Parts: sequence; structure tokens; C-alpha cells
Amino acid sequence: MSDDKPARTIAIVGAGPAGFYAADALVRKPEACRIDIIDRLPTPYGLVRAGVAPDHQSTKNVVRVYDRILKNDAVRLIGNVALGRDVTYDELKSLYDVVILALGAQSPRQLSIPGESLFGVVDCTGFVNWYNAVPGALDLAKEVNANAAVVVGNGNVALDIARLLAKTPAEMDQSDIDPGAAQAITDAPLTDIYVVGRRGPMQASFTSPELSEFGELAEAAPVVDAAVVPETTEGVPDDQKPKKEKNLRILKEFAAGDGAADPRPVKVHLVFCASPVEILGDERVTGVRFERNRIEDGRAVPTGETFEIDAQLFVSAIGYRSSSEEGGPPIDDARGTVKNENGRVEPGVYVVGWARRGPTGVIGTNRNDAREVVDQIIDDKVAISKPGPEGLDALLAERAAVTTSYEDWQRIDEAELAAGSGGRPRVKFTRIDDMIEAAKPD
Ligand SMILES: Cc1cc2nc3c(=O)[nH]c(=O)nc-3n(C[C@H](O)[C@H](O)[C@H](O)COP(=O)(O)OP(=O)(O)OC[C@H]3O[C@@H](n4cnc5c(N)ncnc54)[C@H](O)[C@@H]3O)c2cc1C
Repeated sequence: MSDDKPARTIAIVGAGPAGFYAADALVRKPEACRIDIIDRLPTPYGLVRAGVAPDHQSTKNVVRVYDRILKNDAVRLIGNVALGRDVTYDELKSLYDVVILALGAQSPRQLSIPGESLFGVVDCTGFVNWYNAVPGALDLAKEVNANAAVVVGNGNVALDIARLLAKTPAEMDQSDIDPGAAQAITDAPLTDIYVVGRRGPMQASFTSPELSEFGELAEAAPVVDAAVVPETTEGVPDDQKPKKEKNLRILKEFAAGDGAADPRPVKVHLVFCASPVEILGDERVTGVRFERNRIEDGRAVPTGETFEIDAQLFVSAIGYRSSSEEGGPPIDDARGTVKNENGRVEPGVYVVGWARRGPTGVIGTNRNDAREVVDQIIDDKVAISKPGPEGLDALLAERAAVTTSYEDWQRIDEAELAAGSGGRPRVKFTRIDDMIEAAKPD
């Protein structure tokens, strides 16, 4: 950071991929800036820590890039500060020349079908938060104590959930799954896991590496009805063909493999063209009623024909959205994102990542998205006039807020790594208080 050049003050709210890529793009610009990356959790990295599956450790290596950004003198991490709880949207706007919202999209999309309040019904946020040890997550040990589970959705999150339910303890050895969640999954008598998509195999948004993992599980076999797998990718838009061809090849292998006759005791059934219409049961889920769909121009059209699957666990994984919060930014309810036009929210306020475009793409997609928005910030030549970091520090001190810095996070990280043993890379803290305690210097 230059000593005497006036620096534009920037608050980035959200220490996930989009927030880090925005900070990175800003520090690469010739204009001087001072950046505070604020997160409601004491720990950084957003869904790389809290979403990416615990058995996909190599994906999590991307945090090394984010660490380098945090080592830049122009960048501060301020953890345990929530927009809306500790500081309002209006306050941030008055404190920083530029506010970049990188809040992600945390709320699960709802199916809105009868039976959603039954015991044993869980949404993807609750389920993923549980196995990833996100503070505040509910213990779902009783819910997963089931013989059969239905996971609704055809994206990679649905596949992550099904795979973690299907893996053996040995297969999770090298992961950082929450130990309580791992034990509950091991203890569950699960023999059948149904992943159900409302459209056909060629419309499913999951990707081939995640799909192919179902062919490599120790105790679980994939079951695919050959009748639903098309011969070719005919009708698939040209730009999607290479990806869909890979999926098709894998699905054909699964269908030919006759998973139902496989000696492995757990079956993962990949079911297509069906929408849940009712979750059945009195107190606990006992089954799910589905309506079959046919596909017309890539869209699911209900046929009126129904069928039921017996299950005691129901997980919906049909996507995420941003939701309105008091003291938070304006939300576009129809799109489920922060209201914006190409990343501009209002003068001086911008949005990046999932909060801007919704839950699409991979981690790297957020880099291009953030660069585009940072170019707009530079073009907009926002005036340098606001107090910035000193103003926020004063406000947080007045409110006696307990915050975490990058050095604090490093101490939390060290404690978590030290708690890992065998192949397990770390044991995550699940309570904010424990994180704050671990953050204290010796
Ligand atoms: C279950 C799951 C698994 C995934 N697995 C993969 C994968 O294997 N590979 C891949 O490429 N992509 C994966 N993704 C997608 C990837 O995680 C996203 O593309 C990426 O995390 C989006 O980045 P983001 O910064 O917009 O949001 P996020 O990562 O959600 O970051 C948002 C940050 O904002 C903070 N925040 C939210 N509200 C507030 C507030 N009010 N105040 C302060 N801070 C706040 C949050 O704590 C969080 O740290 C996965 C997503 C999910 C949900």
C-alpha cells in the first residue's frame, strides 16, 4: 500500500471465492485501495470450507490462492462480523467508498409440497452444514438413521450428499467430515439411496467426475434403468454436447453394470423424469410420492402417472437463493439474487459471485465474474471520501464486537490441523466460542 497516495476504501462482505477474487482483481489495479474483507464466520473461504464435500480435499487447495491475497498489506480479514447483525448495509455504505457484496446464496430453494415439515425432511443447506461442521448446524444423526433415503435434485450437491451417505468409514478416512456426522452415517442402516431428477439424464446439471465416482464406491453400486438412458445426445444444445456425452457414457456403463444384482450391499438409484408431489408419513417420513414427467424441448412436463418410493430420509437439493434479511441489501425475489444490473446495485455498491448471478458454475467462475465487476468499479471512478477501516473499527469497538483477524484465523487453522490424525487433515470447530478461544494468542 502506498503511504501518501489517497487510497479508495473498499468493504467486501463475504470471504468466499467471489470476495477473494474481487480483492485480488482490485489489488492488481494501479489505483491504491484499502480492502476489508468481512465475514460473519470467524473463518474465511465461504463454501470452499462450508460447501465443497469433505472427501474432495484437492478442490479445497484453492484456499492457498486466497491465503496469498490475505497476505497483501492492502487487505484485512475481519471475521465474526455479520452484515445485518453487527453492521448494517447503510452503515457500511457510509463508511466505505465502495461496498462489494460477496454474500453467496445461502438459502435452500423450497419444493413447497405437502409433508415438508415431517421429521426426516432436510434441506441441502442443513445437510451440507452438518457434515461440514458449520457453526449452528443441527445434528441430523436421528434423521439419517434410515433404511432408505431420497435425495431430490440433479446437480453436484445432490450427488455429494448421496455419495457421502454411501461411503464407508474407510473411504472417508482422508476427509475432514464432522466426526459426529461420520459416525451417524456409519451407524445408519442405509441400503438404498435414490437420487431423483425431475428432468432426463441429458438435462441433469451434474458433471462427469462427480457422476463417475458412483462407479468406484467400496460398498455401494449405482443402479440405472437402461430404458431411461438415450442412445445419443441428439437434441442437446451443441455447446453442452461434450459434457453430456461424458455423462451419457458413464450412465450407459452404470445401466449395463446391472447394479441391482451387484453384491455390494448399498444401492444408489439414479432416477430421472420424476418430481416429488408429496412426502408421506404421519410424524416421520415413510415415503415419497412422485409424478412421472416426459421431456419436451428440454422441459419437464407432468404425465399424471405417479409412483412411490419408501424412504425415511428426504433431502432436497434443488438449488440455493439469496434471501432478504433485516439490515441487508435489496433482494430480487424472482431471481433469488441481490438486486443488480451486471453487478451494479446502486452508486458505490456492487455484487459478485452467487449473490450476483445465483448458484451456477464452479469456483473458478467467480473469478471472471469478480474481474468484470472490478473493471466497472474502476470505470465508475467512485470518489475517495469515506473513513473506511478506521470508521468500521470505531463502530465495532463501540459495539464491543469480537472479531477475528487473519492471524486469528491462522491460530484456529493450526488448532484444527493439530486435532486431525491418521489421514484426517483436520477436525473443525463447530462452535463459534471455541473458534474465538482458539484464536487467542498463547
Ligand atoms: C454443497 C456445495 C458444494 C460445492 N462443491 C463445489 C466443488 O466441489 N467444486 C466447485 O468448483 N464448486 C463447488 N461449489 C460451488 C462453489 O462453492 C461456489 O461457486 C462458490 O463458493 C460461490 O462463491 P461466493 O463467494 O459467491 O459464495 P460463498 O462461497 O457462499 O461465500 C459467501 C460468504 O459470505 C459470507 N456471508 C454471507 N452472509 C453474510 C453476512 N450477512 N455478513 C457477512 N458475511 C456473510 C458467508 O459466510 C461466506 O463466507 C459447491 C457449492 C455447494 C453449495
